[in-house]
Amino acid sequence: MLRATVLGSGSAGNALAISSGEETVLLDCGFSARETDRRLGCAGIDPSTVRAVLVSHEHSDHLRGVRVFASCHRIPVYASRGTRVASDLDGRVPEVRVLVPGETVSIGSIAVATFRTSHDAAEPLGFRFTGRCGRSLGVLTDSGLVTDEMLEALAGCAALAIESNHDEEMLERGPYPWFLKRRIRSAEGHLSNAAAAGLVTTLATDRLASVVGLHLSSTNNTAHLATTALVGALARLGHPARVEAARQESPCVLQL
Ligand SMILES: [Zn+2]
Ligand SMILES: [Zn+2]
Repeated sequence: MLRATVLGSGSAGNALAISSGEETVLLDCGFSARETDRRLGCAGIDPSTVRAVLVSHEHSDHLRGVRVFASCHRIPVYASRGTRVASDLDGRVPEVRVLVPGETVSIGSIAVATFRTSHDAAEPLGFRFTGRCGRSLGVLTDSGLVTDEMLEALAGCAALAIESNHDEEMLERGPYPWFLKRRIRSAEGHLSNAAAAGLVTTLATDRLASVVGLHLSSTNNTAHLATTALVGALARLGHPARVEAARQESPCVLQL
């Protein structure tokens, strides 16, 4: 059985721990290595069980602690070719292994499949983690739009961690300068609550048990608005999946 723990999510740092019982992999390490160790401990995960760090893309809210964490724990870092170069990983971590979008790698008992996302980064990736039980967690964050490739990669997941970055109206009326608003709304920006709700509607099969909204903006969103959009979308289908919003400050656990 896989267990997924969002150690924290938002523009100040992102990290997600996926544990099989035998081992743990970390997706992104956007907090300092020390803070990541602390958050793993709070979530009841021994940092020495982490076998690898996967990096979705090179933005600092996903990369900040990767080099020190991987070096301290002497574990490999997995990233796309583009992220590898843009993150300047070579020589700074014990080993870099390249992820090719569309391919699957095994890290212990966890199968990791990747797909391309649409974001203003070198070669950003989304992920699907599958345990021996056959149940999958799909993760899509930092993407300005949803493509057919993403829908295919995320089909049939038992749990979904999906970016729910902003409420469109709050962004429109909020204090951000126009160029930042344009970047967030762009095809290489971030998914809104409405976009996340639309995606979850498409992916709501009988297997789906849990949905968590990721990367909520502290300026242009609230946990209430993000969960209301997701709950509403599932309620219209009469779907019973649990919904919550990940927080920046404290971990939350996703049941598969
Ligand atoms: Zn980003
Ligand atoms: Zn981000």
